Amino acid sequence: MSASELSLLAVQPHPDDESIGMGGTLARYSAEGVRTTLVTATRGEVGEILDKELDPKEAAPRLATIREAELRKAMQILGVNEIVFLGYEDSGMAGLPRNREPQTFWQAGEEEAIGRLIQVIRRVRPQVVVTQNEFGGYAHPDHIKTHRVAIGAFFYAGDIKRFPGGEPFRPSKLYYNAFPKSVMRQLAEVMQRAGVANRFSTDGEPPPFAVSDDRVTTWLDVRPFIDKKLAAMRAHRTQIPEDSWFLKLVDVVGAQAWATETYERARSSVDAPTPEDDLFAGLR
Ligand SMILES: [Zn+2]
Repeated sequence: MSASELSLLAVQPHPDDESIGMGGTLARYSAEGVRTTLVTATRGEVGEILDKELDPKEAAPRLATIREAELRKAMQILGVNEIVFLGYEDSGMAGLPRNREPQTFWQAGEEEAIGRLIQVIRRVRPQVVVTQNEFGGYAHPDHIKTHRVAIGAFFYAGDIKRFPGGEPFRPSKLYYNAFPKSVMRQLAEVMQRAGVANRFSTDGEPPPFAVSDDRVTTWLDVRPFIDKKLAAMRAHRTQIPEDSWFLKLVDVVGAQAWATETYERARSSVDAPTPEDDLFAGLR
């Protein structure tokens, strides 16, 4: 298949998860001519407001609008073809009373949410789907729910009886964003030596979103797209201010800190090597 026939779908919980976890990947495949689509489950309505130009009290009620605009700017920078909002609200961090509010993604009927995502899959026909792992990265309810809904849609998009409407379509490969423990350890050491507070390590242990290296199958070189990734991260001004540890990483380690984006291949109906350096390996 040529690049113009390839389609990549990212399914993420909040605006900013896509740029942090896979901004280089989205920029790389967009530049290649692959069709790139981002589905974001929520607008991050109850996220932090770290943009120093905003008064948090004033900005909080319109955070959804602000974050949607930030996301649109970020996706323009990365060259992503389309953004789809699944239409649920941010559930807040685990354990908050907000988790029980009916409009939140955490409370959404799974069958219904899977149905919404299936309609996107049948329309954009992605060979490759990327989403959160079963821990949702760090056990945020929206991250866990994103995993479950994406898994359901990946499998049932081909089942027109169970989920009617549109043309059935079965994606070929399913991936999870994966941050390998070894890389987290290295980054933590470099940051600690430089005396910069960071979340690559918690009490000397890798952070909760890190996974064992043996789960990582796919190492993508995104070096030519580091500038775009950083610009996309900066576009999420309410979430990633200039003094955030994400951006300080570049000062301490250099741009190569973001040179590789890594994934776990959870499922593939085509033969592909392990390790591989392309999400579309086996499909070209
Ligand atoms: Zn998130």
